[in-house]
Amino acid sequence: MKQLAEVLRDWEAVIGLEVHAELTTLNTKMFCGCKLSHDDEPNANVCPVCLGMPGALPVPNADAIRAIVKAGLATNCEIQQRSLFYRKHYFYPDMAKNFQTTQGPVAFCMHGRLDLDVRGEGAAERVDDAVDKAPDGSYETSVRILRIHMEEDAAKMVHVGGEEGRIGGASESLIDYNRCGTPLIELVTEPDLRTPEEARLFMEKLRRIYLAIGISDCSLESGSMRCDGNVSLRRRGSTELGTKTEMKNLNSFKSLHDALEYEICRQAEVLETGGTVYQETRHWEPSRRRTVMMRRKETADDYRLFPDPDLAPFDLSRDFVDSVRAELPELPDARATRYAQELGLKQADAEQLAGEPATASFFDEALALAGVGVARAVANVCVNMVPAYPGALPAQAAALARLLAEDALTASQAREVLEAVSATGEDALAYVEAHGLRQSTDAAALQATVDEVLARCTDQVRQYREGNKKVVGFLVGQCMKASRGQGNPKLFNQLLTATLEG
Ligand code: ADP
Ligand code: MG
Ligand code: ZN
Repeated sequence: MKQLAEVLRDWEAVIGLEVHAELTTLNTKMFCGCKLSHDDEPNANVCPVCLGMPGALPVPNADAIRAIVKAGLATNCEIQQRSLFYRKHYFYPDMAKNFQTTQGPVAFCMHGRLDLDVRGEGAAERVDDAVDKAPDGSYETSVRILRIHMEEDAAKMVHVGGEEGRIGGASESLIDYNRCGTPLIELVTEPDLRTPEEARLFMEKLRRIYLAIGISDCSLESGSMRCDGNVSLRRRGSTELGTKTEMKNLNSFKSLHDALEYEICRQAEVLETGGTVYQETRHWEPSRRRTVMMRRKETADDYRLFPDPDLAPFDLSRDFVDSVRAELPELPDARATRYAQELGLKQADAEQLAGEPATASFFDEALALAGVGVARAVANVCVNMVPAYPGALPAQAAALARLLAEDALTASQAREVLEAVSATGEDALAYVEAHGLRQSTDAAALQATVDEVLARCTDQVRQYREGNKKVVGFLVGQCMKASRGQGNPKLFNQLLTATLEG
């Protein structure tokens, strides 16, 4: 098969994503009062509603409606004044009612948009001129969101005793209804993405937003956030849509990228050898780095979709929507921009810190203690040191940032201190003092050391005067030794140079 770059010279990839997120931060299910939980005994959290008993009536979870409206507002969607719940009929034991309650053509959130900043190596995947590329290859692109609708999750089924993953080969199928009725939101994009990299960035950005607004734990591994990738090809210049294939349940950003990459190359080969791409669902096998056909779509599914007579149409008042809007926290992009512009942080640091709520609040706390004057040092500690020591406290990071900013500690010393104090909860400054690590920045004391060293190292002084400026490094080393590591190397360097030149 050809490589992606070669394929994309002749073909345009058209990609659309469907992203499911379980609203794991809620307490109860979508239409009943059963507890939401991942780790209880199987079938512990069930009731007549989520078991689909005849006559049981659903009551919508107001917090779930709040959460989806939040998601819609955070992704620039229009919140519909009136929306309906529908029944989507199918027969499978994971949904005892024999229909899933979901939404029809009008969902709570419609017509949104997310903008992507595509930078770095991945930006090279995009080769058409529909985007304006900066000299470094980076570009911006906008992805339309068709809708975000509310639905409920199905039960979890485990097939045991047979060939793994094959229902036909299993001797028993077990069902756990704890997950059945979990509130789920599904976001569907327009087919606006053009490269696997853009798809990955979209998914990453959406995850950051959902985390920031606190509606889901967004764990790709455990499946509380999952993504289906749809892709088709068309000749460059064509505006018609080709036949798409769909890869379901891609459970990491890498899988999403790699499955799309593989699928684009596979479809190109099929089309270039005169074959036909069929509309089908394909499964990504990460270990073998390929997709395999699961089922082909020959006819439209007949779900007999109709409005659920048990659930009245939902009218969301303007006041309700405004109250949700007022609750929205600062979103990661805005926060990163603020960090970069107001605090002068490097863009990459600002984005990393703003990306996850826990990281951002750690940074904010450390910053409040250390002071905005040393914001870059605080960011440096939070980005480059804290992640390695999970026990680190904001106050420890703040103290180290101040010492670094004063040049009283080297980066490697700061890392050592953090390693020690993050394990014990000790005060970082007290630790530094107790271990005599603080470097002296007292210029008079350092100058005395410099004078002493220069008086002693006559050879090196002569070499310097003869033009060998590199001996300063040796002299700094001598000063460090003379001060038993307490002096600041940067200051020694400055003082030595000034004295030698003076
Ligand atoms: P399905 O009925 O198979 O679920 P939809 O029309 O609902 O298909 O679209 C599902 C996703 O696939 C959406 O994100 C949409 O943007 C994307 N999509 C639709 N048609 C195409 C196509 N021809 N090529 C690529 N993506 C597509
Ligand atoms: Mg679909
Ligand atoms: Zn229940």
